[in-house]
Amino acid sequence: MGFRLANVDGRAVLIDGESVHDVAALTDGELGPDPLDVVTHHARLHDLTAGLAKVRPTAQIAEVNLGPPVPNSRSVFGIGINYRGHAAETGAALPEAPLVFAKFPNCIVGPTADIAIASDTTDYEAELVVVIGTTARDVSRSDAWNVVAGLTAGQDVSNRRLQNAGERPQFSLAKSHDTYGPTGPWVVSPDLLPDRDALAIRCEVNGDVRQDDTTANLIFSVADLVAYLSANLTLQPGDLIFTGTPSGVGFPTGNFLKPGDVVRTSIEGIGELVNHCS
Ligand code: ZN
Repeated sequence: MGFRLANVDGRAVLIDGESVHDVAALTDGELGPDPLDVVTHHARLHDLTAGLAKVRPTAQIAEVNLGPPVPNSRSVFGIGINYRGHAAETGAALPEAPLVFAKFPNCIVGPTADIAIASDTTDYEAELVVVIGTTARDVSRSDAWNVVAGLTAGQDVSNRRLQNAGERPQFSLAKSHDTYGPTGPWVVSPDLLPDRDALAIRCEVNGDVRQDDTTANLIFSVADLVAYLSANLTLQPGDLIFTGTPSGVGFPTGNFLKPGDVVRTSIEGIGELVNHCS
């Protein structure tokens, strides 16, 4: 049975409809409360979820503040230029291999956290985020989904001036200001999704639709990215892959984020992030 895994106050929880279940309480302390420990044991979450209807919940969703579902990843990868429309709007050539940069894990925040605007060239990037569930090296494309715990929504918030500075621009710092990595609202296991490779992805700023696409248009698919990364290094449970953003970012028109803006990011079958800029 598919699961939704979230984080309340640093403790892993399973979501069942409107009900919240603390994983450590459910398992008498065998799993969790650390979300990274629970992600590592994601295979057990299917059975645990199947039994939730018989258990009294810890809380209701409306009563809790959700944090980032994986708050303490060892590595967070970003992928540049991974939708054709985004390549066209930025004038970039289509990449022959995935363009990989780091988002340092300090930037990761939850689905309703404020984005603390650090620059007047701060831009939004709605992205599907892959959560690795199993230690993985040299995984083939056909085995790639077997090492994925689930998917979540993310914002690869970017400081464009810093991102493009220098003769050989280095993206990582510009995409790692504190709060520049909202994620959530939860990790959804792929078996809950009607088509894990074709999910509507959307971003609104102050109610205006800025990005509206489908992950079916990824140049390098989730399987491609897991295979490529794991050919070069060892992926570990809890690692995140921000898979790239569709067209519609603010950069080409200078329409950047400013304090007071509200960024709404949604992915079909997963859920929504609502982040206020401060
Ligand atoms: Zn991005």
